[in-house]
Amino acid sequence: MILKGGICMAIPTVAFIGRPNVGKSTIFNRIAGDRISIVEDTPGVTRDRIYTHGEWLTHEFAMIDTGGIQINDAPFSTQIKNQAEIAIEEADVIVFVVSAKEGLTNDDEQVAKILYRSDKPVVVAVNKADNPEAREDIYDFYALGFGDPMPISGVHGTGLGDLLDKIVENFPPESGEKPNDDIRFSIIGRPNVGKSSLVNALLGEDRVIVSDIAGTTRDAIDTRFEADGIKFTMVDTAGIRKRGKVYENTERYSVMRAMKAIDQSDVILFVMNAEEGIREQDKKVAGYAHEAGKAIITVVNKWDTLKKTNHTQQDFETLIGNEFQYMTYSPIIFVSAKTHQRIEQLPALIKRVYDNHEKRVQSSALNDVIMDAVAIHPTPTVNGKRLRIYYATQVVSGPPTFVVFVNNPDLMHFSYVRFLENQIRDHFDFSGTPIRIIKRRRK
Ligand code: GDP
Ligand code: GDP
Repeated sequence: MILKGGICMAIPTVAFIGRPNVGKSTIFNRIAGDRISIVEDTPGVTRDRIYTHGEWLTHEFAMIDTGGIQINDAPFSTQIKNQAEIAIEEADVIVFVVSAKEGLTNDDEQVAKILYRSDKPVVVAVNKADNPEAREDIYDFYALGFGDPMPISGVHGTGLGDLLDKIVENFPPESGEKPNDDIRFSIIGRPNVGKSSLVNALLGEDRVIVSDIAGTTRDAIDTRFEADGIKFTMVDTAGIRKRGKVYENTERYSVMRAMKAIDQSDVILFVMNAEEGIREQDKKVAGYAHEAGKAIITVVNKWDTLKKTNHTQQDFETLIGNEFQYMTYSPIIFVSAKTHQRIEQLPALIKRVYDNHEKRVQSSALNDVIMDAVAIHPTPTVNGKRLRIYYATQVVSGPPTFVVFVNNPDLMHFSYVRFLENQIRDHFDFSGTPIRIIKRRRK
């Protein structure tokens, strides 16, 4: 894990494309490595994933497996056209995967034809080159016209280093421009929960200072506005409003788009619909935002549609608390984009969770809290060995990340980490933001 704090920067995106069964998801998962993840620990989700991060040398990047975005029953030509469009639209570098086993096929040529229409860099990965002879036998693929084909084996992991070098070489140069210090947030949620209505309610004509700034490397369009004297950038406003192409209405495309917007934001407005409650897709995107360490506000929209009793709100809070146990720090706000109920509270709430996300606490105050915690709840003993906590320090913010130095990290179980997190939260306002605790052996 690359430890980072502070201002949220866009990272390059790599898209994998190629006909079915060439090994796209095998390569994708290998480059992604074994990230421990609360979302992906759920059975079925690992196989399912189409968007994640990879790292190579000092570079971090996002990856999309376009093969995972499919439209039921559509013929090959439609599927591949959609996947190529997604790759061209979303990626900084496209990895076109072919197979050494089957050699060059007509379907490969069909994919190539669509990719010619874009000027995005394309790297050809010849997969299933499992032995030295196969690695020699890649010359047919020069005919695709994308330069040197790179022989690899997704199963054995050979050639991946060279492929990654080539991918990284093609990343756009860093602009060197300092990003502005707006608070960057995105509005995330299933179709129809009311995202674009919320955009309209939040913006109110007079608030827009600069609208529709095209991103440099993608066509994501952000909107800047000012409210209560605070400057905001709403990420991918165009994506929220965009409708049309068939694949844009598929769940997996919208989950991928949401994850990408989350990556580019400091604060997430996680919107659900009071009428419909929580769905599986909500858990995927909320889990992603949590793991990405973003500040999260839970917005229950269409509050006007419910017949309320004096415990409706509490029932909702309990339901959300049960479904999203890992993010009880997220404040819940009940709004109506239609009647504008509580919409005016959102800018200040976004600012508050952002400030908590960027907060730094003094080591002395932190250590007072930790030492008091140990006094209330003595450290556990495992096989006669007692956990000793020497001191703690905040290493970065965005999200606040603490290193706790101990005699032996194995003695500090999840439950004790959780206890320390609660003690820290009791003493400092970290509402709205995840915090991370890293245990480290004191040398
Ligand atoms: P996708 O449809 O392009 O995502 O392909 P998958 O990643 O699902 O792989 C399709 C099949 O090819 C699976 O049975 C993989 O185990 C196999 N496969 C993937 N990479 C390699 C490889 O490098 N060598 C060999 N021999 N088989 C591979
Ligand atoms: P999106 O797909 O998440 O962007 O959702 P939209 O903003 O397009 O809203 C979907 C539908 O819900 C539209 O018919 C809206 O008018 C309606 N809607 C959105 N917010 C509210 C709300 O707070 N109350 C009510 N009653 N309807 C809403």
